[in-house]
Amino acid sequence: MYAVLPLGLRVLNKLINLVENEMETIGAQKISLPALTSTALWKRTDRFESNQSELFKVQDRHNKQYILSPTYEETICDLIASVGGLSPKVLPLKLYQISNKWRDEMKPRLGFLRSKEFVMKDLYTFDTTLENAQETYELICNAYDNILKKIGITFKKAIGDTGTIGGLISHEYHYATDIGEDIICSCSSCQYSINKVVCNDSHCPKCNNTLVEQHTAEVGHTFLLDTKYTKPLKAVYRMPNHKVLPLAMGCFGLGLSRIFTVAAEILSTNDELRWPKCIAPYTVCVIPPKTGSKEDPASQYIDHILGILNQLNIDAVLDDRTQLTIGNRFILSRITGFPYIIVIGRSAMKSPPLFEIHNINDSTNCEITLESIHNYFNTEINKS
Ligand SMILES: [Zn+2]
Repeated sequence: MYAVLPLGLRVLNKLINLVENEMETIGAQKISLPALTSTALWKRTDRFESNQSELFKVQDRHNKQYILSPTYEETICDLIASVGGLSPKVLPLKLYQISNKWRDEMKPRLGFLRSKEFVMKDLYTFDTTLENAQETYELICNAYDNILKKIGITFKKAIGDTGTIGGLISHEYHYATDIGEDIICSCSSCQYSINKVVCNDSHCPKCNNTLVEQHTAEVGHTFLLDTKYTKPLKAVYRMPNHKVLPLAMGCFGLGLSRIFTVAAEILSTNDELRWPKCIAPYTVCVIPPKTGSKEDPASQYIDHILGILNQLNIDAVLDDRTQLTIGNRFILSRITGFPYIIVIGRSAMKSPPLFEIHNINDSTNCEITLESIHNYFNTEINKS
């Protein structure tokens, strides 16, 4: 289990905002489902017995059995069923939540990569027909592509293993990393990728080129479920002639704590914690001179610099531990994981004063005037 401290929580919250914005764009609505799910519900879909070993089980004072939910197909279908037959007018329905989930992992490892408690965004869609559900499936996959493009780390979308969730079609989103536990087979000349578990060929079925194996970590998984859950749990819609039919369903997971872990793992160096710019705890860290040092008079520029960043809507943190040298705080700042560091140092005593700007993720730096700081960051924001 992991506690998330203030800076880590800022990263997670930025990631959540990014996901929520994209969900808003496609008309998905956010809900909140209870952490406890009745065991009886999972027995109705035959998933309780087959997943027993991975489920945390609890019971209340009346001996009623519950699980700490690792996923919510049953819960959401039961919720839909409780409403009665849905009118086709309200479809497609796209409901998601972002919450902690639990799995009794055989081998918890690598922090948030495989932990007993994790943060996942899960989305469930409901349509009248399989054909419509497939259209919705494409729409959601597109939104997932957009989210991962915004994060900016190269990802692979592979034909997936339907595993214990099931369904007709499944896709997985992967980051290439040696710490990953998955292997995907990718074509070197087209976009085709497939999880090794479901791959039966050493050649690409699209262009016949050789498939290359790669270690990856899965960060997202989508499933076209059709009526696998809606049928046994009676999540239905009502036809104009009052006949009821099971809804065609899709489910879509995005492992936020996994993205968090793997992104830092892929980008970081031995000396620096590096985050994708859009989810870094703060975009800029400003390091003013040490109290009582020769450069101390240059502290007068702090407010001006913070004002410029504020105007550009860039979140900045001031490292005001001015009892420490600039050098010390520079090292700490690189370890902490800010994409940009502005140092108010020796050059700030020159005429005109110059300020060091370090782009940590690109390993570049420059000295610029106070007037140029606005332009520098304006250009940098538009880059990403
Ligand atoms: Zn190919």
